[in-house]
Amino acid sequence: MPTESKRDYYEVLGIERSASADEIKKAYRQLARKWHPDVNQGDATAEERFKEVAEAYEVLSDAQKRGAYDRFGHAAASGGGPGGGFGGFDGFGGGGGGLDDILNAFFGGGGGGRRTGPQRGDDLKYELSITLEEALKGGEKTISVPRTENCETCGGNGAAPGTKPDTCVQCGGTGATRQVQQTILGTVQTSVTCPRCQGRGSVVKSPCGGCAGRGKVRRTRELKVPIPPGVDDGMQMPVRGEGEAGNLGGPPGDLYVFFAVKEHERFERDGIELYVSQPLSFVQATLGDTISVTTLAGESVSLTIPEGTQNGTRFKLRGHGMPNIRQRNQKGDLTVVIAVQVPTKLNDEQKKTLRHFAELRGEIAGQTPDDNSKGLWERIKHAVKGD
Ligand SMILES: [Zn+2]
Ligand SMILES: [Zn+2]
Repeated sequence: MPTESKRDYYEVLGIERSASADEIKKAYRQLARKWHPDVNQGDATAEERFKEVAEAYEVLSDAQKRGAYDRFGHAAASGGGPGGGFGGFDGFGGGGGGLDDILNAFFGGGGGGRRTGPQRGDDLKYELSITLEEALKGGEKTISVPRTENCETCGGNGAAPGTKPDTCVQCGGTGATRQVQQTILGTVQTSVTCPRCQGRGSVVKSPCGGCAGRGKVRRTRELKVPIPPGVDDGMQMPVRGEGEAGNLGGPPGDLYVFFAVKEHERFERDGIELYVSQPLSFVQATLGDTISVTTLAGESVSLTIPEGTQNGTRFKLRGHGMPNIRQRNQKGDLTVVIAVQVPTKLNDEQKKTLRHFAELRGEIAGQTPDDNSKGLWERIKHAVKGD
């Protein structure tokens, strides 16, 4: 193991980190010729340079070794590697690889850092608008979801049928390269997504016609999603594996269906409870009647209105509310709120009859009967408070 700090291989060959295989070869040939022992008889420095160039070329010309070197520096080449502890380091602090590699080991060089392996696809959100009736009954709905899928023609690798993607020479197939930054701590290396292959680790030479080499295509999928009976506005339901396609063979994300329950023109909802306003003529309210109430499910339920029913009176139809989404067989109630209609457009005869009725009751014009007004006000207050 050399005692002095090692120079960076790219620096040794005088090339850029993004150099292609050809550029590496060209640089190596030039330098090897320059420092060759045959040309520099007895020059110890030249011999050292020649060895250095040869070593750099050995690593950088091999895609796998280059990839490892890009990520882990000299530690990779000398056997330290990601899990190898500090044993493989060539020296501390004197520039070159030492400090870089230590920092790299701490800051995620050992396989962490920027993720470049298979990645799960993104989750998708879909707002599904349904009616209150649909929320009551539940069922199934077909939705159209635009999303990214793996290309069927190439199986997602982007290469034309019959061909294969080549291992990326810049990252050696790892999908990551080192980025060197000067900080007050010294030189810091971070692992970044390889710019040549965008982290794929491979480069497509003959792109697939189905996806133009991207490996993915945009599709609008028709999906059948269940509507759970009793679902409420704003509730979400995950549909596993129906999100965006994963990267590099990673699993797809999930689809989250957000339910938006439309307002009903007649029924009001509060959790599992339903409310409906029921108009009654004042004669029905006064004398009592048996009426038919149509529930949200469309059923006709008979309701007996007792004599003297006040405006705002509530009647509960048990079990005609919304189902409890969490507890099967449990249902809320339908509360019928009475709305007494004051008759309008009465003809002369009807008005005369009403005046006669008032006389029989002992009502005096300009005065409200006390007994009735208090009771009515109490009932309205109850109705407003919801009890
Ligand atoms: Zn394709
Ligand atoms: Zn690459």
